Amino acid sequence: MFTAPPSPFLVPFDGRFEVGSQPTAPGADAPGKDDRKKRLEQCVERIAALQHVMYAHDKHAMLLVFQAMDAAGKDGTIRALLTGVNPAGCQVFAFKQPSSLELDHDFLWRTGMCLPERGRIGVFNRSYYEEVLVVRVHPEFLDAQNLPERPDLETLWAHRMESIRDHELHLARNGVVVLKFWLNVSRDEQRKRFLSRLEEPEKNWKFSQGDLRERGFWDAYMRAYEQALAETSRPWAPWYAIPADSKSFLRMTVAELVCAAFESLDLKYPTVRAEDVARFAEIRRKLETEK
Ligand code: ATP
Ligand code: MG
Repeated sequence: MFTAPPSPFLVPFDGRFEVGSQPTAPGADAPGKDDRKKRLEQCVERIAALQHVMYAHDKHAMLLVFQAMDAAGKDGTIRALLTGVNPAGCQVFAFKQPSSLELDHDFLWRTGMCLPERGRIGVFNRSYYEEVLVVRVHPEFLDAQNLPERPDLETLWAHRMESIRDHELHLARNGVVVLKFWLNVSRDEQRKRFLSRLEEPEKNWKFSQGDLRERGFWDAYMRAYEQALAETSRPWAPWYAIPADSKSFLRMTVAELVCAAFESLDLKYPTVRAEDVARFAEIRRKLETEK
């Protein structure tokens, strides 16, 4: 089974993870801007090529999960990562507030239908993790879920974490490489990005009052992220807490991790059987002499 690419941003598997001690900006030893761009470009090219091999190999799919506070850079990172990938080889799904149909099912149903097929890269822009993030911050959302039983909230979140761990282990055992990225933007950088959405007319459409409301729950979100990441980062479905205050660093780092994950898979083009190869000469002759 696939194992998590090592990284300083890998969330440990033993439950010891503190949001407060995670960097939101690149360290002093991080590569410069030009280097970041170059490394991103190289990785993006590799990802496109490796997706093609993964398709031919036909054993694995890759699921990339993105979670973050608003304006952390999910959309831009996804765009940067998939530039150049065959559009038939990737699928991106964004998950917003659940519809009434979705609420009529268990919380893994809607994402289950969007899992990538073998050979494809699937991206979840938000995911079932919202069920232990936004819903944990706003437990009143549970009212619309008509659960048969409402254990005390701590038990309920623990059950959900267990369901998520089981689900991801099941996916991993069936060839899905699950990589999860939390884009860790600072509160102050989010403030600046909201301000630029207000100031620059072409960014106005991105601003939503709801985002400002959720910003008010910052500390509760951070607690929810801390718990979710600590309890669900596992070798077969690792979380990475990526500093997101610099978009170039964020994009390069995510791309390098995706690349490393691909490279650990030992993907190969299938070999054609010797007897089939032996027939190639005959087939070629037929095609060449065709009138
Ligand atoms: P963008 O703002 O870049 O368009 P977004 O992912 O923030 O992208 P929005 O429509 O702004 O999209 O927000 C989606 C909202 O849906 C988020 O606030 C998110 O927390 C919420 N959401 C997602 N899944 C659930 C869920 N299962 N239950 C309740 N709310 C959810
Ligand atoms: Mg939004």
